[in-house]
Amino acid sequence: MIQYAKEEGFAIPQMNVNGLIWIEGVLNAAENQQSPIIIGTTDKNIEYLGGYQFILDTIKNKVRTMQITVPVLVHLDHGLSVENCKCAVDAGYDSVMFDGSKLSIEENIKLTKEVVEYAHANAVIVEGEVGAVGGEEDGLIGQVRYADIDDCIALVEQTNIDTLAPALGSVHGKYQGEPNLGFDEMKIIGSKVDIPLVLHGASGISNVDLQHAISLGHAKINFNTEINISWTNQLRETLNESEDLFNPQEIIKPSIHAIEKTAEKIIKTCGSNNQNKVFT
Ligand SMILES: [Zn+2]
Repeated sequence: MIQYAKEEGFAIPQMNVNGLIWIEGVLNAAENQQSPIIIGTTDKNIEYLGGYQFILDTIKNKVRTMQITVPVLVHLDHGLSVENCKCAVDAGYDSVMFDGSKLSIEENIKLTKEVVEYAHANAVIVEGEVGAVGGEEDGLIGQVRYADIDDCIALVEQTNIDTLAPALGSVHGKYQGEPNLGFDEMKIIGSKVDIPLVLHGASGISNVDLQHAISLGHAKINFNTEINISWTNQLRETLNESEDLFNPQEIIKPSIHAIEKTAEKIIKTCGSNNQNKVFT
């Protein structure tokens, strides 16, 4: 699915979920836009989401009961250890990311390889990361560290990963100032690496830059902050409208709509709308 997107010059959005209403909002958006979709659950939040098996089953159940017809991949975002990635594989995830970006490249290769061997034996795909995405995501704080081109090639060749996230200036959470993506490095990596690239921290990057990244081989783009901001803004607005409001459904419903609308906008930016037909 992601390889096809790369060949066709669009990207499949990964949207991270923070609870049931995110799952519903994102699935509705994907169905409305007839877009294949990747639902991400970040490893740091797994306990909050109810555990690997619970959240996986919940997403798959929702796909079934909402009669979703577009392909939905469930992905473990920023897997914190080999063990955690294996737990997600065992639970039935379609894709896992092993985040070895804080390790030496040798150690990153060694552990990523372990994840790949286990995942591929269970028909699960694996995303690897080189360099460091900046900012804060779910309590993970870090500085931008540009991916080394030789490290990217080594990780891909020696581990047999399916997708590669080379950190090239993007940031998790809100950007301080203008995002500064390393398009020169992106071009080289895109030409030397055959597998689809993944862009993390896409919220706040301009549409022009996202299109540029897609043209240089990015076929999976991760969104989280943008959706959460639109959800929060709507929730705040609803609560400010009336101090008498206490019915949870009345309070939350408009914010589900906000998630859905933002997700639809993201799908159109990635060009994955109406790309469902080839998969069915
Ligand atoms: Zn990320």
